Amino acid sequence: MADFYELGDRPPLGEVPARMHAFLVRQSRFGQPRDAWRREVIPTPACGPDEVLIYVMASGVNYNNVWAALGAPLDVIAERQRGGEPEDFHAGGSDCAGIVWAAGKDVENVRVGDEVVVHSGWWRPDDPWVRAGKDPMLAESTRIWGYQTNYGSYCQFARAQAHQCVPKPKRLTWEEAGCFLLCASTAWRMLMGWPPHVVEPGDVVLVWGAAGGLGSLALEITRARGGRAVAVVSDDAKKKFCLDHGAAGVINRSAFTHWGILPDADDAKAYGEWAKGARAFGKALWDALGERVNPRIVFEHPGEATLPTSVFVCATGGMVVICAGTTGYNATLDLRYHWMRQKRLQGSHLSNDEQAAAVTALVAEGKVDPCLSKTYAFDELPECHQLMLDNRHPYGNMAVLVNARRPGEGASR
Ligand code: NAP
Repeated sequence: MADFYELGDRPPLGEVPARMHAFLVRQSRFGQPRDAWRREVIPTPACGPDEVLIYVMASGVNYNNVWAALGAPLDVIAERQRGGEPEDFHAGGSDCAGIVWAAGKDVENVRVGDEVVVHSGWWRPDDPWVRAGKDPMLAESTRIWGYQTNYGSYCQFARAQAHQCVPKPKRLTWEEAGCFLLCASTAWRMLMGWPPHVVEPGDVVLVWGAAGGLGSLALEITRARGGRAVAVVSDDAKKKFCLDHGAAGVINRSAFTHWGILPDADDAKAYGEWAKGARAFGKALWDALGERVNPRIVFEHPGEATLPTSVFVCATGGMVVICAGTTGYNATLDLRYHWMRQKRLQGSHLSNDEQAAAVTALVAEGKVDPCLSKTYAFDELPECHQLMLDNRHPYGNMAVLVNARRPGEGASR
């Protein structure tokens, strides 16, 4: 057996070469993603008893590996080393479509040769919380695969826990299948994981960053559930994309200036200006919808810039659900609106196995589109992350081919 294969060359099923291609970040390169991510050849990891090695056909590109490149807010390499792992690099990637190439001795849910997509919820199997059958996303040991763990989907052979594998929707090409699950599963948990605030037919859902990875899937899921999504974007050029992916209406946020941390409530002038902006945004929401109805769910991730407005426009008894603070972490809100109108501010992070499987089933049935934006070559991976950091990436979810030789392969419709 050769100890190394070029990308796209397949070793016999089940045989794993000693070395592989991978895109890595090293601490000495932390900074702009274009420079931080570099292709190297590294030893292929062994897989543990409950793990699989996946021959990656295509990978998605996600914002977490922009953070990994920057080395902030978390140095993921240092964090793993503190936990006893020896590697001085981060081989990332949290979205994957591929073929199970090797499986540990305790793996039962998949077999070598299975075509799978991989969700990125990782936890220790011996975690007492997990063993007790509780939601593993709330366990102490939970990590994001391919961000907080090593050997993700930017590797020729990715290492994952077997429970992360979901059957690949057959109708999808490798790149369609590889691009969506991190954002889709996160959006699903946000929109369906926090009862009673789950999307019901007719519900209005405000979606920030609606042409982005998370936002586009939130539009799709809301439509599939019979809800009415109002999309927020920064450019009219994105409107058609949002309407095509299920938005009932679109707001261009660049018409407003009241963003960021709330002014002091005692500063009547500054607060009045802010309130004027927030009310105008609320009116734009009604105009986009064609009805004076406030959103029962606000789908949040920009964070600092938008949270005050999200809480303000959220319906009485509604929920603002948030999974990130892309624009900053200082969340401010006017508590008067929050308690008097009995709103809920809910944190949410990735998804568990059931949630990943539920949204993948809708994708397999053709009810939710994976929102593939553009397919790139493996060596364009650093530039994809740079585009994302600069908010210049194509609408939806980007994919890179890893072992797939060309786009359009892998589907059996
Ligand atoms: P993305 O594709 O870059 O989309 C983010 C969108 O946010 C952009 O399209 C942009 O749209 C909008 N945006 C940028 N600046 C904004 C501002 N100042 N105010 C309002 N909107 C702004 O990224 P993504 O994949 O959707 O991820 C978004 C965030 O969620 C990232 O921070 C990511 O790390 C995080 N995330 C968290 C989880 C989790 O489980 N916790 C999972 C997935 C992603 P416009 O410019 O058109 O408004």
